[in-house]
Amino acid sequence: MTVLVVAEHRNGTLRDVTFEMITAGRDLADQLDSDLTVAVISGDVDRLAEQVNCEGVDAVTTVDFGDTFNHGVYTQVVEQLYEELDPKVVVLPNSVNGLDYAPAVANRLNLSLATDTIELTAADDSLRVVREMYGSKVETTVDIDRPAVVTVRPTEWPPASGEGSADISSFTADIDESALGSKSTGFEEVVAGGVDISDAEFIVAVGRGIEDEENLPLIEELVDVTGATLAASRPIVDNEWLPKNRQIGQSGKVVTPDVYIAVGISGAVQHVAGMKGSDTIVAINSDPNAPIFDIADYGIVADLFEVVPELIEAFDGESPL
Ligand code: FAD
Repeated sequence: MTVLVVAEHRNGTLRDVTFEMITAGRDLADQLDSDLTVAVISGDVDRLAEQVNCEGVDAVTTVDFGDTFNHGVYTQVVEQLYEELDPKVVVLPNSVNGLDYAPAVANRLNLSLATDTIELTAADDSLRVVREMYGSKVETTVDIDRPAVVTVRPTEWPPASGEGSADISSFTADIDESALGSKSTGFEEVVAGGVDISDAEFIVAVGRGIEDEENLPLIEELVDVTGATLAASRPIVDNEWLPKNRQIGQSGKVVTPDVYIAVGISGAVQHVAGMKGSDTIVAINSDPNAPIFDIADYGIVADLFEVVPELIEAFDGESPL
């Protein structure tokens, strides 16, 4: 018996959540007294298989079909792997791709599905999962039947590391290409002005508290004097005040800077998912009950239109790093 983790990769690189899923999967496998299998689907599977062969992985299965993620391919492959391996739990990423095929897999196999999980505990014939709801204001604990499909929230588990000694084998999936429905024609990473916020060491992020696009130059001035990188919450991007590649969060980028300053950002769970790995979090918000203060190391409860000009004056060319 095994727990099956499906690796996520993009543009030839494994995503961090893959190693976090291996930790979550290993923990579950220990609880269920079973093995841990990691599947690598599409792309340069042999190279990626070596990379997922971390400590705690018992088997790696490769499926060499196509170059990039495809909903139909992943759905059909995971369904066939399930039938081959009979896993107790299928662990998928709570990412754009994972959420694209996890429900389809669960539906086709008639399995329970829990998405965006932050804790997984095995019971006799069920799985206890913890999920956050209502902007992280409540945690729900849900028992679902096993076997089950779960998607795990990125950054909730520490990444697996170390060299493993797993058996690496290939699996030939029988893909019905007429049922695929879509094909990938290219991959283009959008990087504005050569800046990738995922690499930034110091981020100033602006949220809806800025009220109007006309007020953005105030934040840009703070960014300039401190040498920070500008980022934003989703409403700013939805309003097209900043481009999409500046968005932090569940449907944006995950950032891990040394310093992260949130200006007029409430701290919704979808935003926090992208920045909670920051070393030092500073929040400026006029609402003392804003959830961002729950995770901030330093909080300034004040009107940003008063605080930011003072910060600009105080730093005036001196980066706080
Ligand atoms: P708000 O929640 O409106 O907060 C604005 C804050 O500014 C408030 O706390 C307010 O007190 C404060 N404020 C107002 N005026 C001032 C002032 N003058 N001075 C100081 N503070 C002030 N969001 C993301 O950010 N990233 C994502 O990737 C993302 N993905 C999502 C995916 C899904 C499927 C869904 C459903 C939502 C997603 N969201 C995402 C949206 C998310 O739920 C929140 O709506 C969003 O993060 C809120 O942005 P905000 O904090 O800027 O705005």
